Amino acid sequence: MINKKIIIAIDGLSGSGKSSTAKLLAKEMNYKYLDSGAMYRAVTLYIIENSIDYKNLKMLKTILDKIELEFIKDDMSGFYQIHLNNKNVEKKIRSKKVSELVSEISKISIIRKKLVQMQRTIGNKKGIVMEGRDIGTVVFPRAELKIFMKADLDIRAKRRFNEFEKLGKKISLEEVKSNLTDRDNKDSNREDSPLKVTSDSLILDTTLISLEEQIEFIKKEAKKITN
Ligand code: C5P
Repeated sequence: MINKKIIIAIDGLSGSGKSSTAKLLAKEMNYKYLDSGAMYRAVTLYIIENSIDYKNLKMLKTILDKIELEFIKDDMSGFYQIHLNNKNVEKKIRSKKVSELVSEISKISIIRKKLVQMQRTIGNKKGIVMEGRDIGTVVFPRAELKIFMKADLDIRAKRRFNEFEKLGKKISLEEVKSNLTDRDNKDSNREDSPLKVTSDSLILDTTLISLEEQIEFIKKEAKKITN
């Protein structure tokens, strides 16, 4: 019997483990994976690198037509990585500069409109795990499975700090913590598509559980729908 393919929407707080979970979950379920945050980060990187005045809406409209985003499978890791105008920017989009500006950029409605359209085109064939802040509310409000991930701030900051340390990036724990808090506040309080829990979301608190347990939880819930 062929299992039904569904859309799994994973939204949640910054650093709650969405990316690691969604990536491996997609691999294990043989689903596509889409990191919508990477798209907002790539647009932010373009704005920084080209010194774009993002408050000038007219200017923004013209630059949006010049931005081409693509997810291409990396042969080494087997994971999809984001390409901006034909260049792999997966590493560059995780910089401190991009992290500090991205929530300001993602507030802008014309940017959201363009990216949401792209996300819907990628996801509408189903069989996809998509993660972000507005997947279950705006991008795919009828997704069959919606997960909202959260964890204590200290734990989220420590996990993110360890990731930066592994990559040899110099940033203090306090800086990481303040960036997570700042983004959560901006993402939850913006007018367009704020981060929020929907009544049909399952809450997954990752404070005390392992990555494997997070994946198992979602797989079990998905099976209830697909089998
Ligand atoms: O997921 P990640 O932390 O990489 O996302 C970076 C930022 O992109 C978020 O803090 C948020 O401002 C924005 N974002 C968004 N909507 C999404 C995904 C990310 O506004 N669906």
